[in-house]
Amino acid sequence: MITMTAISRRAAIGGGGAALAGMWTASAGAWETTPSPAFGPAAPPLAGPDLPSFRFPFADLAPKQFDGGWAKEATVVQFPVSETLAGVLMQLDPGALRELHWHANAAEWAYILDGRCRVTTIDPDDRSETVDFGPGDVWYFPRGHGHSIQGIGDKPCLFLLVFDNGYFSEFGTFSITDWVGHVPADVLAKNFGVPASTFADFPKKEVYISKGPVPGPLPADYPDGSLASSALTHRYRFLAQKPDVFAGGTMTTVSMNEFPISTTMTGAILRIKPGAIRELHWHPNASEWQYYVRGKGRMTVFGSGGRARTDDFSPGDVGYVPQGYGHYIENIGDDYLEVLLVLNSGVYQSISITAWMAANTPELLGTNFKVDPAVFAAFPKSAEVMPD
Ligand code: MN
Ligand code: MN
Repeated sequence: MITMTAISRRAAIGGGGAALAGMWTASAGAWETTPSPAFGPAAPPLAGPDLPSFRFPFADLAPKQFDGGWAKEATVVQFPVSETLAGVLMQLDPGALRELHWHANAAEWAYILDGRCRVTTIDPDDRSETVDFGPGDVWYFPRGHGHSIQGIGDKPCLFLLVFDNGYFSEFGTFSITDWVGHVPADVLAKNFGVPASTFADFPKKEVYISKGPVPGPLPADYPDGSLASSALTHRYRFLAQKPDVFAGGTMTTVSMNEFPISTTMTGAILRIKPGAIRELHWHPNASEWQYYVRGKGRMTVFGSGGRARTDDFSPGDVGYVPQGYGHYIENIGDDYLEVLLVLNSGVYQSISITAWMAANTPELLGTNFKVDPAVFAAFPKSAEVMPD
């Protein structure tokens, strides 16, 4: 029995009719079969009789150009189904600085694809970190913490940013120049204890990316008494981690177990052999955002109500799997398939259909599938994650 109070509360959280889909209807005497994603205002893309595409051709999107770099983003505006995660691809020339900024509505997870960069951070305890990143390194900035990114070395730095909010926009961040440019000079004088004339040449609008000299190397040993570092580092050497090896490929997972500061996101790199498959599974606690790095993939997503959707993926494509939706990925090329996954929880959870079936008797499975129980004698007794 659903009370009015319960309905009102759910409607207030979930937004109107979508929250009611799937409720028991006494008149029909059955559970309605209308798919009913239990969360959020983006229910419409998933509520129809057919599933939408879970592929976004990110590679085809032209970046926004700046003096010193470029950026492009995949949010719910470009890819409506990706309600809980958004992505940005950015490149910075050596010396180019993505200015001091923060994000009011998302934490930031990053993966360096090429080149090197230096990051500075500030946390609510006034602790900071200055640290260099190279290919395969990951960073995590908690929601609202200040940071900057500068290209270093002798070639551009290319990196992927993932945010734990699909409504996030990289072009709506809180930048230090934007704020200072909109504070009267006499207030700035009072705040910083310097003459108002100091600010005469400061920019009046957001700088976003600014070109400057490439900074020198960080000191190997900081002078005594010079650091106020956070207890948790923002950098994780992802590619240095030993992968989990399966018959059909490897998977490297960085959750908050490996990288304690990353409390709201988990990353994984899947490398699938030609012909192999990331087995049928789902994630009870998170949605999955994907960036196809290498090879040719095919993903199928199962969304209940007789709905399944298959899309083919090439390098540069973005994919998305809503929380709890069944899915699998096949390598359909002649080379390794490499996919970067980012989930919006610091705790990694996955349930495979293989393990689930192995946990039930052949008799139950025979009854469930309406076939001879002996059929299941040949099935695997545990999950393989990536069978060959
Ligand atoms: Mn940022
Ligand atoms: Mn998955």
